[in-house]
Amino acid sequence: MKVPKVQKRYCPWCKKTTDHKVDQYKSAGKRGSLSRGSIARAKMRGQGRGVGNKGKWGSKPAISKFKRTGAKISKKTTFRYACVVCKKIIQQSQGIRTKKVEFT
Ligand SMILES: [Zn+2]
Repeated sequence: MKVPKVQKRYCPWCKKTTDHKVDQYKSAGKRGSLSRGSIARAKMRGQGRGVGNKGKWGSKPAISKFKRTGAKISKKTTFRYACVVCKKIIQQSQGIRTKKVEFT
């Protein structure tokens, strides 16, 4: 999917149409990775260290039968539009599944 770097959009703060710089939103880290019963939490406790097969606490989690079929490889993209005039950012999901986003 090709997206132009600069788009003309309505800015609710400037109350007129201005140029917006387009950027893709990327989530920072994993959310709730230290929840109760998680592998990340067990590793902090000291489990899953050393040599050999660590089973449940190993490097890769066991893949369930449900997850094995129909795995999706694309995600809905979220774009961030930064107003050139007031530098405010509007975040908007486009609702289109794409593997790769190219800024032209
Ligand atoms: Zn603005």
